[in-house]
Amino acid sequence: MFDKLHEECGVVAIYGHPEAANLAYLGLYALQHRGQESAGLAVSNGKEIECYKDLGHVADIFKPEVLGRLPGNMAIGHTRYSTAGDSAFLNAQPFSVRCNKGPLAVAHNGNLTNANALRRSLESDGAIFQATSDTEVILHLVAHSRERSLDDALRDALLQIEGAYSLVFLAGNRMIVARDPHGFRPLAMGQLELSGQKICYVFASETCAFDLIGATYMCDVEPGEMVSIGPDGMHRERFVAPKNRAHCVFEHVYFSRPDSFVFGRSVMQSREKMGRLLAKAHPAPTAELVVPVPDSGVAAAIGFAEESGTPFRQALIRNHYVGRTFIEPSQAIRDFGVKLKLNPVKHLIKGKSVVLVDDSIVRGTTSRKIVRMVRSAGAREVHLRISCPPTLSPCFYGVDTPTKRELIAANQSIDEIRRFVEADSLGYLPLNLLRQAVDDDDRFDYCYACYTGDYPTDLYNIDELMTGRGGQ
Ligand code: SF4
Repeated sequence: MFDKLHEECGVVAIYGHPEAANLAYLGLYALQHRGQESAGLAVSNGKEIECYKDLGHVADIFKPEVLGRLPGNMAIGHTRYSTAGDSAFLNAQPFSVRCNKGPLAVAHNGNLTNANALRRSLESDGAIFQATSDTEVILHLVAHSRERSLDDALRDALLQIEGAYSLVFLAGNRMIVARDPHGFRPLAMGQLELSGQKICYVFASETCAFDLIGATYMCDVEPGEMVSIGPDGMHRERFVAPKNRAHCVFEHVYFSRPDSFVFGRSVMQSREKMGRLLAKAHPAPTAELVVPVPDSGVAAAIGFAEESGTPFRQALIRNHYVGRTFIEPSQAIRDFGVKLKLNPVKHLIKGKSVVLVDDSIVRGTTSRKIVRMVRSAGAREVHLRISCPPTLSPCFYGVDTPTKRELIAANQSIDEIRRFVEADSLGYLPLNLLRQAVDDDDRFDYCYACYTGDYPTDLYNIDELMTGRGGQ
């Protein structure tokens, strides 16, 4: 219904807690915004792995009786957004198998750019795949490895895969987590002190998962790092030399929760700075109100309002309880979908010149509906401000983006987009200021490929990726 880019999942892992399944469930609950199509947990009692997954939201899937059937002190979890037409249940994670290296479960955030080539090679060696997900490829690589220990087989598998991955593995009596050498997707590490000086280790896509379970953020799993925890303690190693860093900047623009620390930096701080810099780059001198498009536009709108000295008002109210299906009246209501989700506070808007702050324009259709909604609530002028540069190119690193043909900024000038969305003025945050907002102006730690088309990895199979784009 909303024209947004979609993050494709979140992962969580708990090691060394008697209620590992409950904690992983709570972690997934905090990461629900990263994927709402399916969720799953795999739990180990030290020997065997039990896995439970289903379609739907975390709280609907994991009822107390389900969690009660998942005993053990180690757990991994996954929440997933899937693309339309996808065989969603088959691709739900974690994947759990019993292979020649013992029981093994995996959950993955990211997208492998060489998965199809690896799959073809494995299939020609007799491998049988159940799902279309590239994560299954990793399990086959582990099973096919000639290395005998699990750590060595995993390292062997990781050295063959390319692209974006933050992975959490669960074996009978150990847990291994790893992050790709560019560090595309986040993976934070924390700890929870238990009685008797015992420590429980926690990993998650975002630190908001730690806050809910009372864990303390320690550090990020480094790009190119593998962390293995078992009865012999914790081992951290670089399984490959880190490459040019390419943290996904869209985590700070839109995906992550503002209360999270991502790539070692507060998301709220980044977004407010985006808003302040946007106000400097594209002021709206006649505006009387700054209004965010909720929820993701709120922090940038606060920054815009502070910098410009224009009052901030929550004049668009979001209904948080809209499900996926609804009955549309037979007599069509104009822009029905967006009205279900957003409603203007008319007395705040009427007769005013309004700055609307949003985090992105993808196809432009939703932005146009929102501009129309604000105008029909009585706004005299509507100035649209976007807290990132125009989205020009698709992502191959685990974010669901439309094709270049569908991305409005790839096909139209800024003024054409302004006319399409029916705004009085339109301004995007320039790339150099986005880099400043995430404190990357003196470094090159982030990926900006969806704004520049300059991909940080070799994409020798780009035609295949264009047709089979997707992530985990
Ligand atoms: S292309 Fe865009 S969405 Fe994809 S990893 Fe890079 S910055 Fe993130």
